[in-house]
This record gives sequence, structure tokens and C-alpha cells, in this order.
Amino acid sequence: MRNITGSRTFLALFVSGILLLAGCGEQQAPAPEAAAKAAEPAKQVYHWKLAMTWPTNFPIFSQAVDSVAEKVKTMSNGELIIEIDSANKHKAPLGILDMVNAGQYQMGHTVSYYWKGKDASTMFFTTMPFGMTTPEQYAWFYYGGGMELMQKVYAKHGVYSFPGGNTGVQMGGWFRKEIKTLDDLKGLKMRIPGFAGEILAKLGVVVTNIPPGELYTALDRGTIDALEWVGPAFDLNMGFQKIAPFYYTGWQEPAAELQFMVNRKAFDELPKHLQEILVTAMKAETLDATARMFNDNALNFAKLSTDYPEVKVKTFSPEIFKAMKEANNSLLEENAAKDPQFKELLDSQRAYMANARAWSLVSDYAYMKDNQLN
Ligand code: CA
Repeated sequence: MRNITGSRTFLALFVSGILLLAGCGEQQAPAPEAAAKAAEPAKQVYHWKLAMTWPTNFPIFSQAVDSVAEKVKTMSNGELIIEIDSANKHKAPLGILDMVNAGQYQMGHTVSYYWKGKDASTMFFTTMPFGMTTPEQYAWFYYGGGMELMQKVYAKHGVYSFPGGNTGVQMGGWFRKEIKTLDDLKGLKMRIPGFAGEILAKLGVVVTNIPPGELYTALDRGTIDALEWVGPAFDLNMGFQKIAPFYYTGWQEPAAELQFMVNRKAFDELPKHLQEILVTAMKAETLDATARMFNDNALNFAKLSTDYPEVKVKTFSPEIFKAMKEANNSLLEENAAKDPQFKELLDSQRAYMANARAWSLVSDYAYMKDNQLN
């Protein structure tokens, strides 16, 4: 009997198995996909907010941020959602570090040297006058200890910091009159922020800071005699070429790096795969923004040459550069003497640059110098 019962049970299972395979077993068992889904834990979705220094639709900068949010959403299959607030909304373009540190926002996109007033060492993660070029600086960040030093500095401010796209060499600025000697700088009223402003102040320049929206009017009315902004990619939109015919080559921001920042607690709480997705998306976008800035600079410089032939591109004299470098070195030494962290950053960059620059000169520089297009 046992055998017969057993055989019947087997037969019943066999038949229902055939029915399932044939797709006729809906009433007997759930579909395999649904069963698998029911066994999965519920997906946890992280909703983050990012505050950027830029207004909505700011060329390249805000687009880089939009792109990171989109990439992260797609790559994480919707597990990490980043909502972006522009400066139009949060009204604190220079308050990003405080807001991300406080956890009001989990992320920010801004520039490290804006925090110079809180911590002078933050300048080293943007660019330094007469400092490294873009490839040199990325090599320092990723292979020369720069990333580790950056996290060490920013740990005190409650955030992790990441590169966020590089402007390349910025132009030295727009001048209404030609600058031939050091005397031409004395009493000159110029908008130039940061460490470069301190250098020029030592040479007798009257340094002012004016909000971007008022720059054109200030230069046009003679409230200032000169200003520096970024480079052709951004400067032509501002219209400076119409009122200041001398455009000087750069020295003050050879490789201005933008900054992503992430609240440390929020980042540490993310699962490992979302951390990796976020870091990878930021790094990819950093490369893309850097390439786009080079592209836009080149296109707009060509436009400047054809549409505004009256603009003269100039380079400061060796005498002026020498005085700027001396002022730069004495300011660096002053800061290093009173701030051990500043000294650690200065020593790191100087040591790295000694090798990196020797290689740049014999590679990129020699190649370009000896292989001019015309
Ligand atoms: Ca600038």
C-alpha cells in the first residue's frame, strides 16, 4: 500500500510539474519571478540633497552636477537619488561648507579656496599662484599624496572632498591700460580674489572684490581698472573684451580645480556599492568637465581673435613676474611659519612639483616649443 500511495503521490507531483512548465499551473504556485522577488529584502532608497555655489544652468559647472546626479541614479538603479539646489534657491553660494558640514545638505559642489578664511590650507586643493598645471596637479592628487592630505584637512570640517573639474590655466585678466612696468601696477584698482590678490597688494595694487554680476559695470565706469575672471570660455559671455583691450596671460590660477564635497557621516552610512558608484561618477564627471573647459576655452579664444581683433593678448614683463614670485614666496613662508598644516601642504606640493615640472618641461613644453603649428 505504501508503495502504491507513494507512486500516486509521485504521479500527482509529476503531472502538476508538467502543468507548471506548460504555463497552466497559475492556481497551484506563484510564477518563479514573483517568488524570487518576494524573497528579496525591500530596496533601501537614499534621498540626498546637494547645494552648489552656482546658479541654475551655469555653463559647465552646474551641468557637471546634473550629470553626476543622473549617473548615480542610473548606476544605482534608483537607490541613491541626489536632488540639486542651486544658489538661486539656498541663497548661500559661499556657505556650502557650513551647510554640508552641518548635514543640512549631504553634498556640495563649489571651490576649495573659498574656505581660505576658515582654513588657509584649503587653497592648495584648488590651485596656487605659480603652482602646478592641471596634469601635474591631478598626478599629485591621485599619486602624490594630495587626496590623503585633502581628506586630512577636510576631516576637521566634517566632509570628504573630491576633485570636481579643472578650468586649466586661467587668464591673468582684462586691463584697460597696458602694464609695462611695476610702476603701472601702483595704485591700479583690480578685482582679483584669493592669494593672488594678496600678492598684487604687496606690489601696490588696490585689490577689491566685487560680485560677478557687477563686474562689467565696475570696469566700464572705471570703478576698477582691471579684473581677472576665468578664461575665454567664461570671460567672453561677460563682455569684458568690449571695454578692456589688454588681455594678459595667466600666473595666478594655473589649474583651478572645482570641488565636490560629501558629509562624512552620510557617506559612511552608505552601503559600499553606493559609495563606489558615487565616487566613480564624480571622477568621471571631473574628467568630462575638464575636457569641456579646454574645448570651450579653445573655441572662445578663436572667436576672440576673429570677432575682436583689437584685443591684444599680452604677457607681463620678466621684471613684474620676478616681483610677483618674490611676493608669493614671502607670503607662503609667512603662512607656513605660523601654521604647521599649511607648511605640510606647501612642502608636499613643492617636493612633488620639483620632479613633475622637470618632466613637463622635457615632455609637453619641449614638444610644443619645437613643434609649433606655424
Ligand atoms: Ca579666477
